[in-house]
Amino acid sequence: MCLFCKIVNNEIPSNVILEDENFLAFHDINPKAPVHILAIPKVHVDSFDDVKPETMSGFTSFIQKVVKEVKIDKTGYRVITNIGDNGGQEVGHLHFHILGGAKLKWGHFSDADPMNNL
Ligand code: 5GP
Ligand code: ZN
Repeated sequence: MCLFCKIVNNEIPSNVILEDENFLAFHDINPKAPVHILAIPKVHVDSFDDVKPETMSGFTSFIQKVVKEVKIDKTGYRVITNIGDNGGQEVGHLHFHILGGAKLKWGHFSDADPMNNL
């Protein structure tokens, strides 16, 4: 069973923010911003590449509830999902990072020259 499935099953503790029948949101153990939450489907999905549109529609509303719950909906936030090796995905269970609570940085995402493919 994967790490996040163990969190869903309460085999590994987590700091839960919001939960419903299908989704769970908890604090990232290694936060990269003042607010850093992970939102996951309770059912195992490897990554965004495999998620069904019908799951995403509920997931979208859930994430919108989470950001209201932690009161970053008005100030703004960022939602990221890493996919596969180049995407930097470390945990193989679909998760969206929700980052906020301060002005977030934006910059180059790789060492490769971003102008090279134009
Ligand atoms: P990825 O690199 O796969 O997109 O992100 C995985 C995230 O899971 C990382 O931000 C990491 O800090 C977080 N993480 C890894 N293990 C645990 C854990 O046991 N508990 C919690 N709450 N977060 C974790
Ligand atoms: Zn899983």
